[in-house]
Order: sequence, then structure tokens, then C-alpha cells
Amino acid sequence: MKTVYLDHAATTKMLPEVIEAMMKSYENDFGNPSSTHRIGQKSRAIIEKARKIVAEILNVDTQEIIFTSGGAEGNNLLIRGILNANKDKGNHIITTKIEHSSVLKTFQQLENEGYEVIYLDVDKNGTVNVEQLKNSLRENTALVSVMYVNNETGVKQPIKEIGEILEEKGIFFHTDAVQAIGKEIINPKELKIGALTAASHKFHGPKGSGFVFLDKKIQIEKEIWGGAQERNRRAGTENVQGILGTGIVLEKIYKNIDEIQKNEKEVHEYLEKRLKDEISDIKINGENAKRVETITNITAKGCDIQTLLIGLDMRGIFISGGSACMSGAQEPSHVLKAMGLSVDELNSSFRVSICKDTTKDEIDYFVENLKEIVEIERK
Ligand SMILES: *Cc1c(COP(=O)(O)O)cnc(C)c1O
Repeated sequence: MKTVYLDHAATTKMLPEVIEAMMKSYENDFGNPSSTHRIGQKSRAIIEKARKIVAEILNVDTQEIIFTSGGAEGNNLLIRGILNANKDKGNHIITTKIEHSSVLKTFQQLENEGYEVIYLDVDKNGTVNVEQLKNSLRENTALVSVMYVNNETGVKQPIKEIGEILEEKGIFFHTDAVQAIGKEIINPKELKIGALTAASHKFHGPKGSGFVFLDKKIQIEKEIWGGAQERNRRAGTENVQGILGTGIVLEKIYKNIDEIQKNEKEVHEYLEKRLKDEISDIKINGENAKRVETITNITAKGCDIQTLLIGLDMRGIFISGGSACMSGAQEPSHVLKAMGLSVDELNSSFRVSICKDTTKDEIDYFVENLKEIVEIERK
């Protein structure tokens, strides 16, 4: 049976050349990067080479990159780490209602620990309200965290505007850029971003690997205590091969970013046009907002999402209800809820996410099968 994977916002397949390089390195480079002998120093060199690649792509200093185990750790490290190292800044913090659980749950926990938290609304297209942000700022606001691209809708947030507002007030700005890195060129310094999170498995790299950017002007307290790795900001023997794979994949992607963007745009537009032309009573959530060309969130009136996902799975098509992290619990999407969708709409919404390698043939297979399943369900 044909297999069409359209759940790239949940995770992606590693590039073959990344797998190959990592496998070779697993065989050859077993040294501990903290060992001073030559075998250790070979691993150290691998890490520092990858750090240089990442720093150059973001146009930042190498010392501003910290390797982590991925998105969730990066978000925890930056949010908590910055607050813990800057307690004098105040105990008022701001985020949005549409963040990934690794940001939302961290803020909820901080709220339990005594921080005052504001969760910003979004409009019906899923964009954060900058006016509300401005009006929420106080003397004691320490940090604001707004995601770069939403993982359920693909909606891009007004990062540049927010960066400028916060820079002027001297408030720390963190962005979860897990769905943006590998999709477009990002220059944190130009955007006045102080801290940014990325996860390698979202851009064809290895799972359990990622990095953060942290402006060198910002103090941080470590979250994982132990050795002095990563300039004393993240303890634990480094994931040498994960870091190697991260560097290789990023270099490959950004070398071809123009072509990748062009292909993704073409396939994405094709997908949305076919959906709208051929399936009645559907709505693309966040359609009128600025979005990345890799995610489409759809409400198909009168369809039960679980039945739909099973039907597609049986035909070899793999998509997702909301975000992968939520689907286990089968809770309705907090993102779509914040955008004002009704209970019925929440139960009829799903996400299709493509990657640089998705073809129009795959989209054809998806749309044709979706059409049949929707018609059966609506009978
Ligand atoms: C996937 C994802 C994360 C979590 O990354 P992990 O590496 O899986 O921990 C965080 N934020 C967003 C927006 C994501 O899409």
C-alpha cells in the first residue's frame, strides 16, 4: 500500500546523509568531549564545528549557542533559566494561549510558584494581539515568550514588532522557533530576540537533539546541574552524534533554502486549492494570517476527527488531530479554542503538514481519499 506521511509538524524523517554521518561517527568517535586526551578532543571538535555552523546560520556568536535535548528542554531552560538568574527583574511574565505545552506548562508551573502570568489572546486567525501585549506590560514584567510559528496552524506571530517593543522596555524576549528553524532564514539579533528554541527532529535531524540561542548579554541559571558543559549552562556529557547531525542537516537545508521554500510554497498552494475546490464545507483555520508554507489546519464540517484519522490511516495516510503531544489525551486543541472555534468545529479539525520532499502526487492521493472519507462520514 502507498504510504503518504503528512505529519511533518510532529516530526520529520532524517536525511540519509545525516544518518550516514552519524552512524560513522558512532563507530569512530566515542570519546568524551570533556576528556583532555586526543580521543576526547576529537569529539570536542565535532561539537564545536556544529556550533559554528549553527551560529553562522543564525548570524550570532558561537558562545550564544547551547546544545540541548530538543524543544521541550530548550523552552524549559530558557524560560526558567533566565527568570532564575534575573529575580530582581520582577515576577510578572507574559505568554500566549497558543503556545506548545512545553511553554504553557512551564508558565503554569511558574504561576504555582508565585509568578503572575498573563496569557495573551489571539484573533480569529490565530495571531497574537500586539496591542494587548503593550497594555499588559508593567514595571515588573521580566519576560515575554511568544512562539515564532504555531505548530497547529502554521500562523506566524508578529515577532519583529514584539521584539522592538520589548527591547525598548528592557524586557527579556523568548521565542519558541521550533516550527520556524529550517523553514526560513532567521536572524535573532535583527528581530531583537534574546532567546530562541530549536529542535533538530523538526527539520530532518535526529530526535532528542536541539539547540537554543541565548544573547550573550543575558544571564542564565542552568536547569540541569552537574558538570560545566556548554559553558556551564547545561550539564551532562554532550550528545556528540546528535549535535553532529544537527550541524549537517542545518547546513544542507540553508544552502538550499530558496529552492526548498519555492517547492514547499508550490505544493502547499496546490494542497489548499485542491481542498477548497473539491471538498465542500471546509475551512482553513488561520487562512488570512501570515503562515508558513508547510502547515494547513482544516475544519471539515460534520466529520468526527477520530473516525477520519482512522480512515486515512487505513489507506496509508498519516496526519494528525491537533499537535502530536496532545493527540494521546484526545483533548480538543487549545489553539483552535483560543481562535474561537465551537465545540463541534474542534471535533472536526485536523492538521496536514508537508516537508521539502512532499510531492503533488502525494497530495493527490491524500485529497482523493479524504474526499471519499468525508463523503462517507457526512452521509
Ligand atoms: C515539537 C515542538 C516542541 C517540542 O520539541 P521536542 O524536541 O519534541 O521536545 C516545542 N515547540 C513546538 C512549537 C513544537 O512544534
